[in-house]
Amino acid sequence: MLDVYLWSAFCNMFHLDHKQNILFHEQLENEAGIKLQLKINNNRSTMLSVKWSPDCTKVSLHRMFLQAPQNIMQELACYLRRDHKNLAPALKAYIEHNLQKLDYSYQLDLRKLKTKGQVYDLQKIYDEINKEYFNNKLKLFITWFGKSDRSASSKVTFGLFHDPLKLIKINRLLDNRQFPPYFVSFIIYHEMLHHVSPTYVDDKGMKHIHNKAFKEMEKKHRFYDQAQQWIRQNQKYFFTANTTCI
Ligand SMILES: [Zn+2]
Repeated sequence: MLDVYLWSAFCNMFHLDHKQNILFHEQLENEAGIKLQLKINNNRSTMLSVKWSPDCTKVSLHRMFLQAPQNIMQELACYLRRDHKNLAPALKAYIEHNLQKLDYSYQLDLRKLKTKGQVYDLQKIYDEINKEYFNNKLKLFITWFGKSDRSASSKVTFGLFHDPLKLIKINRLLDNRQFPPYFVSFIIYHEMLHHVSPTYVDDKGMKHIHNKAFKEMEKKHRFYDQAQQWIRQNQKYFFTANTTCI
């Protein structure tokens, strides 16, 4: 009995989604005035992709667009009609804003996240920062990435933040005593701030990643000055091609 109930609930859910997609498809076609082959996706990378064709334009849209307000639907229709070449600022802002609300962290394989290094334990440092600066409120994941020895590249990325996965990635190069603890802590703090003070798109369509609020918060790190000084003193090692790491 329970199985039957669950199955029927599932069918209703699917039915609703399907019906919603059809309605949305009709609405978008009417707004754009062209025939569309529409696919609604739920992936982490493609929010909007279009393949124009005179007969039927193919569009793949993230499910975030199903809740789009009228002005966004209009901007989207303009873009699909090719009224203008670039995405409208409002459309960019809508995508950026909704990207931050997505949470795909359930897709992470936690067994693959490596936090213990030879020198530094990322989870331990993350937990300390979370306690000291964020009242243990942040629920993010952290892992090492890359190799501990440096390949001949012209630029080093110390850390990354993958917003939909809520995942901080720290370059394994930093798992070395030549990088002082306060610097490693500062890099992790910086990546956490990407979640706390997210990127936004302004009226002109410009993306602000390390925005004013972000930079203000960055200064609150206990070792901000030392970390900046360390970067200044060591940047030649990280921004010059074919150099050996210090
Ligand atoms: Zn950053």
